Amino acid sequence: MSKQWLAALAAGLLTAAPASALEIRVDPAPVYVFDLSPDRGIYDVLLQNILVLNDADQPVEVTGLRVELFAMGELLSSARVPATKISARAAQFAGLDQAGVLSMMDFQFHLSTLLPEGARLSGDASLEPQEAYLNSGLYVASSGLPDTARITVEGPGADLGQVEVPVSRYQSPTEYRVPVNGRWMVVASADAAQHHRWVLSSEFAIDIVRMRKDFMSHKGTGERLTDYATFGAPVLAAADGVVVAARDDRPDNAAMMRRPDEAFDAYLQRVMSLQQAILAENGFEGAAGNHLLIRHTSGEYALYAHLREGSLRVKAGDEVRAGDAIAQAGSSGNSTEPHLHFQIIDGPDLNSARGIPFEFSGLKEDWISMQHRHLRAGDVIEQE
Ligand SMILES: [Zn+2]
Repeated sequence: MSKQWLAALAAGLLTAAPASALEIRVDPAPVYVFDLSPDRGIYDVLLQNILVLNDADQPVEVTGLRVELFAMGELLSSARVPATKISARAAQFAGLDQAGVLSMMDFQFHLSTLLPEGARLSGDASLEPQEAYLNSGLYVASSGLPDTARITVEGPGADLGQVEVPVSRYQSPTEYRVPVNGRWMVVASADAAQHHRWVLSSEFAIDIVRMRKDFMSHKGTGERLTDYATFGAPVLAAADGVVVAARDDRPDNAAMMRRPDEAFDAYLQRVMSLQQAILAENGFEGAAGNHLLIRHTSGEYALYAHLREGSLRVKAGDEVRAGDAIAQAGSSGNSTEPHLHFQIIDGPDLNSARGIPFEFSGLKEDWISMQHRHLRAGDVIEQE
């Protein structure tokens, strides 16, 4: 790896060589794969944010954006954003920026650090000097494990700029155990079809629910929080560490649950307005509800979210050992039914940290073998 890359990695992003008039910023970088089907050698990557900034004194027209994945110099797969999509997205993002949505969602778009002082987003594919185009959520799957992603900005008749970022299958230096006891089901993972993957700090997060003996998550109709086996279940530290953030003063959010007589569309509308209110008030931290953030010696942080009101057994500054009971699972923050949201991030700030992949060690293999691959929705997990 070149010294230039190392310096860029230290800064948390990678920048194109100044040979072109365009600056291409990829955030976060490097890029980590998710195991889509590792037994068949299929992986996927999501380029969360690509910012194309016109540093020249002439306008430039962006007619395409191309991502190519390579392994040892061999092209594995590619994806391309055509000119029509670039125009539409530029208009959409400029509108969202004016409405204040992008600053409210800085935990996702990182514009406060990505966009240099004095620069602004363009409303179309023509970038005036100091105008930028933001491409968020560019997904590519590949047959074979890539080591490099090449991002190319296309112009009329010629490419305008290019940058390469390293891609890898991240291996955590920390050994994590399942943060609960008993049999739990993964109901959301980093699968691209699910919500976590598209949120930068939650990219590799999992949602888990406790299963009853009859394999249901709740008894009866599940109208009440206490109907759920998850609600009040002990949450355990996944590894040794130190608590850096703790709060449990938020109510468990029964209002977010679907009412038995409620049509799905009406429920969706209602939940979306509740979610927007939470984000507008406290951003990602508000969405996490009651939570614990624990720092591990590797420099990784584990976030336990949607914990039960008043259930924390540790406070900031406390040391914990793997397996210690630290709280109870609940349904606070942006939670539509009791579950534990667990994610590993690379820093203590929920608004600037990135999500990183992890695996649990010591899983029981009774149900399906999940050793050596990332968890998927439908996996049943239980600590040995
Ligand atoms: Zn979640």
